[in-house]
Amino acid sequence: MPAPRTETPRVAIEPPDISPYRAGNCGLDYVTTFDSGAPGPHALVNALTHGNEICGAIALDHLFRAGVRPARGKITLAFANVAAYRAFDRGNPYASRYIDEDFNRLWDKATLDGRRRSVELERARRLRPIYESAQRLLDIHSMQYATAPLMLIGLAAKTEAFARAVAVPALLVRDKGHEAGQRLRDYGAFAAADAPHAALLAECGQHWEKAAAEVAIETSWRFLAAAGVLGERQAEEILARPAPPQHLIEVTEAVTIASEDFRFAADYRGLEVIAKAGTVIARDSGRDIRTPYDDCILIMPSRRMARGQTAVRLGRYA
Ligand SMILES: [Zn+2]
Repeated sequence: MPAPRTETPRVAIEPPDISPYRAGNCGLDYVTTFDSGAPGPHALVNALTHGNEICGAIALDHLFRAGVRPARGKITLAFANVAAYRAFDRGNPYASRYIDEDFNRLWDKATLDGRRRSVELERARRLRPIYESAQRLLDIHSMQYATAPLMLIGLAAKTEAFARAVAVPALLVRDKGHEAGQRLRDYGAFAAADAPHAALLAECGQHWEKAAAEVAIETSWRFLAAAGVLGERQAEEILARPAPPQHLIEVTEAVTIASEDFRFAADYRGLEVIAKAGTVIARDSGRDIRTPYDDCILIMPSRRMARGQTAVRLGRYA
């Protein structure tokens, strides 16, 4: 089985200087809310849930410079794990995903209310009220491998409808998240079937490719337009831009790493379609991991081979 890839990847995009946004305007560092004063939803665009996924910071910097403002309701622009972002190092860009733990595995009440402490938990606890006050959330991410952008929509039907209104990226992925802890997009009202809230997690492309930043910017504008916070004319113009048809992938299971000796059977990058059921795709300490059905799609294979983490998700076109 191949050894994990270790080369230093090319960083083709520039991490923006976000210090001008530090003060914010709502008592939280790096969080800015624009309030139209008119009734309407609160739409929040969130960057840097993972500190090395810089396309989100580029998108927020772009929105600030473009002078984005709501015509109805509110728009919040939030940089989440700024401590990890500050540690970003071109020579070792994978290292700054987080400082102590993954900011995107903390989003359940028990963890947030619990006694455990970490850099990320402190930040999550401070940001919690702003996320709780948003009815629409776009959480911007990027991926380890250069595969087509994905929108992770969770399990609730309401979210699929909203993702289709945003209309990009072309691939929607319905999944329930990770064994290791709940994601922000699945937190509280966002995942509740009986609440009108909707949260999207955009995986815009490979972490440091130029295209990821472009996808992040376009997805942000379309998110704000679909959320109903922009002026009608501006929203119509944005949503009229051409977008290819969307396809939905249903994730049936996540492969969670059980041992310290997990190896994929090939150098998977994501979105491979494995034709035959029963094909060995990985070995976890001697145990074969096989595809459960024909035409099984591999989604976001991981380079982080640690016990308890998601190695890959398995799905099929719905
Ligand atoms: Zn991420």
